[in-house]
Amino acid sequence: DKDDRLNNLNKPSVRFNDVAGLDEVKEELAEIIDFIKSPQKYHKMGAKIPKGILFHGPPGTGKTLLAQALAGETESSFFSASGSEFVEKYVGVGAKRVRSLFEKAKKSAPSVIFIDEIDAIGAKRTTESNNEKDQTLNQLLIEMDGFNSDQTVVVIGATNRLDLLDEALLRPGRFDRHMFIGNPDVRAREEIFLVHTKNKPIDKSVDIKALAKRTHGMSGAHISNIANEAAILAVRNNKTTIGIEEFNEAIEKVIAGLQRKNTVIL
Ligand code: ATP
Repeated sequence: DKDDRLNNLNKPSVRFNDVAGLDEVKEELAEIIDFIKSPQKYHKMGAKIPKGILFHGPPGTGKTLLAQALAGETESSFFSASGSEFVEKYVGVGAKRVRSLFEKAKKSAPSVIFIDEIDAIGAKRTTESNNEKDQTLNQLLIEMDGFNSDQTVVVIGATNRLDLLDEALLRPGRFDRHMFIGNPDVRAREEIFLVHTKNKPIDKSVDIKALAKRTHGMSGAHISNIANEAAILAVRNNKTTIGIEEFNEAIEKVIAGLQRKNTVIL
């Protein structure tokens, strides 16, 4: 059931190497890794470990992947939830879920808690009262204020809409480190293609650099999708390797999907 799913503890095997591009963000996260690995060093200096990090930016750019990599690199337990999973009709249910999530994370510390779509619970409070939502957000704030320094729990929130978030969530000691995770540039797209073709038999006819140039505006999720579609097409075409024909078709397919989406929005 939902309460169990929220507590899906595991130790991810994802590493920073699996995340292409995003060099600056990875650099910033290196310090957090050091915090998690040797908290004593920081405690001795009287420094507090940052509790909350906010990843913001467009969908499919590697926010979830980065959070997993942070846990993977530090051998932390990884808990993931989506903000929308806390939104319930009955007052107190969401708050209870938040409490239980943090309890488990503290028990298996060091832990990384990843909350995707954090705007679902962390949106600015309106004058119109919404008891259930307010209680859930309050519980999250209480949990973040509450853990002490011997329990290393880092909370990563992710959102596509930073502007929607309640100020209270962004205060020092809460989600006070913000990192923008944007769409990849041509170099990063090339790297993402390399990550996602690494374990695939790619034909010599495939020029990865050229693929990167042709996928302007696409996210990492799109590129991963293209690599997978191309592999499936190669199987369908009874090929022993994935050729440029397969990549061409896969790219067209993803572009067609993007255009369909745009017409819906417009
Ligand atoms: P959303 O906002 O929609 O939740 P997200 O930013 O969390 O998206 P991810 O779930 O991390 O996106 O990315 C989806 C998939 O796209 C990943 O599992 C991975 O395969 C691929 N991907 C995205 N960005 C990268 C990247 N920088 N390097 C390698 N793969 C990536």
